[in-house]
Amino acid sequence: MKALSKNERGKGFSLVNQPVRSPLPDEVVLKVLVSTICGSDLHLWEWNDWADGFVGSLPLGVGHEMAGEVVDRGGHVEGLSIGAQVSVETHFWCGSCATCQRGLFHLCAAGGILGFHHDGAFAEYVTVPARNCWGAKEGENPLTTSLKEPFGNAVQTCDVQPLEGRPTLITGAGPLGLMTVMAAKARGAYPLIVSEPRSERREKASMLGADILLDPSSDSLPEAVWEATEGEGAEVLLELSGNADALRNGMAALAPGGDIALLGLPVRSVEMSLNEDVIFKGATIRGITGRLVWETWKEVDRLIHHQRVDPSILVTHQFPLEEHEEAFHLMERGVSGKIAFLPHGEIIDE
Ligand code: NAD
Repeated sequence: MKALSKNERGKGFSLVNQPVRSPLPDEVVLKVLVSTICGSDLHLWEWNDWADGFVGSLPLGVGHEMAGEVVDRGGHVEGLSIGAQVSVETHFWCGSCATCQRGLFHLCAAGGILGFHHDGAFAEYVTVPARNCWGAKEGENPLTTSLKEPFGNAVQTCDVQPLEGRPTLITGAGPLGLMTVMAAKARGAYPLIVSEPRSERREKASMLGADILLDPSSDSLPEAVWEATEGEGAEVLLELSGNADALRNGMAALAPGGDIALLGLPVRSVEMSLNEDVIFKGATIRGITGRLVWETWKEVDRLIHHQRVDPSILVTHQFPLEEHEEAFHLMERGVSGKIAFLPHGEIIDE
């Protein structure tokens, strides 16, 4: 089968031919209908300091957000039929460590992450633990199925603190920031303030319901936020850029007693003013990784299927695996929304 692989430390991926891995007794083989590119895949493609320290051994099959169809099952798999369409919870878990015993499966250090520590989903087929599969609804668009994983990141970022009626600042309106705008709007954040340097992304945030749009390259973020909130500051900061200045300025714009959720991944250590911006403000900071298994997935399905908040509207491009370089150059230039790979070639209606 065809697959994108990180073969050596350095920029880019290679398209390789490799066998489909046979399933262990508790695994399934999925035919990849769609896989979508995450900002974290761009870190791997660029091979920055963070990627160098985080990834397991090379060569590595990359990609993690996906919609798949079950085509083979190990002997112990029950309840997942051949032909079923699924998303994959990309954080694997061991089930026996102290973290798993506390129910924090998404934080298990032993399990590893699809496309970072296990061969991933930018491939025609991928083999994963059956228990990591989350069934799609009847007739669900595979683009939606694939985007439940990142949308779950956004939903968890919103759900770690109350948002209803609270002035909320989102820094970064890349695909994940835009999904966070969708989820924060559905949760009743008001006013919803978005800071993003790219004008087309600010426009998209506005279309999705953001109330106030700021450009960090020309606006002074703390002052603009204090002004927009009549001197009160943002009660909540949701950081979705991974940019150190966005984080520092966002924290300076936070109201006393505010909440901060960090999902964006800085590529190196960030210096900040803990005394002024956290300790004396009585701020609460929460790190977000992955999704709660399976609470966040249930919330994602509720938002998509009951509140009609569908992240697939953010897909701007669909490519075969052969055109991976063009896809990642678009990502690098920040001129796309979500980009999908179609490993078997069929274009999907959005
Ligand atoms: P992206 O790179 O497409 O989006 C980042 C956005 O931040 C861009 O639109 C960029 O213009 C904007 N930005 C840059 N500097 C800024 C500044 N000073 N102020 C405000 N905005 C600024 O990435 P994405 O796919 O949207 O993902 C967002 C981040 O989330 C990435 O860092 C990614 O690695 C991370 N991520 C984390 C997890 C997790 O589990 N914690 C999961 C997936 C992705």
